[in-house]
Amino acid sequence: MFGTGLLKGLGITLKHFTDTFTDDRQKVPSRYQDSIQLDKNRRIIEQPITQEGLLTIQYPEERRLLPERFRYIPMLIWDTEANEDRCTACGICAKVCPPQCIWIVRDKDENGKPVTRPAEFYIDVAVCMSCSFCTEFCPFDAIKMNHDYELAVYDRYPQLVYSKEELTVPLEYYAALWPTQFAAEQQKRKEEAEAERIRNEEKKRAAEEKARAKAAGEAAPAAAEGGAKPKRSAEELAAMKAAAAAKAAARKSGEEGGESAAVAEAAAEAMAAPAVSEADAKKARLEEMKRQAAEKAKARKESGA
Ligand code: SF4
Ligand code: SF4
Repeated sequence: MFGTGLLKGLGITLKHFTDTFTDDRQKVPSRYQDSIQLDKNRRIIEQPITQEGLLTIQYPEERRLLPERFRYIPMLIWDTEANEDRCTACGICAKVCPPQCIWIVRDKDENGKPVTRPAEFYIDVAVCMSCSFCTEFCPFDAIKMNHDYELAVYDRYPQLVYSKEELTVPLEYYAALWPTQFAAEQQKRKEEAEAERIRNEEKKRAAEEKARAKAAGEAAPAAAEGGAKPKRSAEELAAMKAAAAAKAAARKSGEEGGESAAVAEAAAEAMAAPAVSEADAKKARLEEMKRQAAEKAKARKESGA
């Protein structure tokens, strides 16, 4: 029907017109509150992007809440939990930056040895193209994109060359600006820490098991030797020593001739023979003497008869 589209358009305009008043009535008196006041220089102004109505933003007094993924220039994260810079001065961000607007000077300890923190960190924000490559490549989540776009100054140098102090923000500021990304990163860090803990525990357990197995392996032969070994008497030990000495002497003079070698060997064998106690030997000698005396007496008796 002629004029339907026109009426439809007017209806939409009328809806926006009334929505403006509805929205204003809902939000008054503080439609555009400061939701977070981190310090005197940085404010995050809340004005939800979802609100309806034909709104005129009274900039700069009023500012719309920016979407989380909005990016302007980078900022460096100060880890408030660890109380240190997250940046390790690895230089990856400076390498990947397309317009090469990052300069980093690594810090040194008292002995002049380089340490993993930046002494100086500069970004020429007049050159930065807000590409976010630096944040994408940073392995330590140390550099993130800031939402702060009100950077107007009278002179480009040195005002637009930001130093480490100007770039650094606390972790809470980043968490407020990028809540979703921050939560995802925290979760990932937690999982990595847990995985690291499990890895360390497994390593520790494996080392303990290895040490236990080693100790058991050493104890077994020692027990076999020490436990089953019979104790030798002093005589046996003396005989063994003498036999060993005789054997050594025989080995030494072995090539010199059969007799001495044979004598030595016999001596060694004799010495190596099981030792007899002195009392037993005496007793045997007496027995032998008695036997010989009896034989002699018998022979004399037979010859006399
Ligand atoms: S911000 Fe990240 S990538 Fe750049 S130097 Fe620091 S740790 Fe390395
Ligand atoms: S956002 Fe892009 S241009 Fe800006 S400092 Fe990072 S890498 Fe360089």
